[in-house]
Amino acid sequence: MTGMRAAVLYGKKDIRIEEVEKPSAGPGEVVVQIKAVGICGSDVHYYEEFRMGKTYEMVEPQILGHEPSGIVVETGEGVTGIKPGDRVAVEPGETCGCCRHCKSGHYNLCGDVRFLSTPGNKGAFAEYLVIGADMVFPIPDRMSYEVASLSEPLSVGIHACELAEVKPGDRLMILGGGPIGIMAAAAALAFGVTDITLGDIQENRLQFAREHCHVKHTVNTGELKTEEIVERFTGGEGFDCIIETSGAPVADYMSVDLVRKGGRISLVGIPKDEAVQFHIFDIIDKEVTLKGVFRYANSYPLAIQILDSRVIDFDAVITKRFELEETAEAMDFALNHKMESVKTVIVNAK
Ligand SMILES: [Zn+2]
Ligand SMILES: [Zn+2]
Repeated sequence: MTGMRAAVLYGKKDIRIEEVEKPSAGPGEVVVQIKAVGICGSDVHYYEEFRMGKTYEMVEPQILGHEPSGIVVETGEGVTGIKPGDRVAVEPGETCGCCRHCKSGHYNLCGDVRFLSTPGNKGAFAEYLVIGADMVFPIPDRMSYEVASLSEPLSVGIHACELAEVKPGDRLMILGGGPIGIMAAAAALAFGVTDITLGDIQENRLQFAREHCHVKHTVNTGELKTEEIVERFTGGEGFDCIIETSGAPVADYMSVDLVRKGGRISLVGIPKDEAVQFHIFDIIDKEVTLKGVFRYANSYPLAIQILDSRVIDFDAVITKRFELEETAEAMDFALNHKMESVKTVIVNAK
């Protein structure tokens, strides 16, 4: 076999760099030489627990990583429009294409998805990856592979903005200043929203948002009462939209108090507990629209445009880099420095 190096997760906190079979391109597929892969919160969960929540349990050794970018090195039979040498961002979820969700454009809801780095689906912490040619999107020459790897979390931010129906003139509050909160801010700016308040309980995250993300206000949500936040930043009316990215149950609960009558809330952050409290009376009384956000659909071309527009300082979002050989160290770093570090990426310079 022709081999390649890959970082294989064998169990909790057990990653080994191994020689595995190098994939080749079947009909309609391309092989991408991986240049950069962002480490996502879900990768860290799998690394720590060998599972994520109740639903996703690893049963065999697994290659993680689902935020890749790289260069196309091989194309299979019938592939047109993509050629070896193309620099691309890779969308990680191949779907059936036939079900009602796929056919209506909401393929993120497809029940038959093969999403990189979920149980049974090899991920991108490797030298090469094979994937359908329709899952790779060319990036501009001037865009670094590292920034291109942000297409995935930025897609989540775009979808959160779409579902919260953010539009120019809105007052938007983003709860949580981690990578997804930052990407939601970038998407909202690109959607023409200028009045963005970002809330977190970590001062360093608020500082990062002020310095690099062009948000109008930041607020330590642990220090101010909800009414005070509403009064200070919206004159008492409430925010037009809330995007909740922290996954903290208290933030879910707060979002209903922060939103104005008739406002929209989109929930992205996944709480540890399956059930969290909402004030149902207020949701009804205020006619609040509450939407869950699961991944994204048809967002990569827009994500790449937004990254290229540099609406925020995307380079600054990449706070730490490791080589493929150092994947275990990278995961430990991402696990132990969640608050100080924004995005850790695995880079493949060779
Ligand atoms: Zn991700
Ligand atoms: Zn489908």
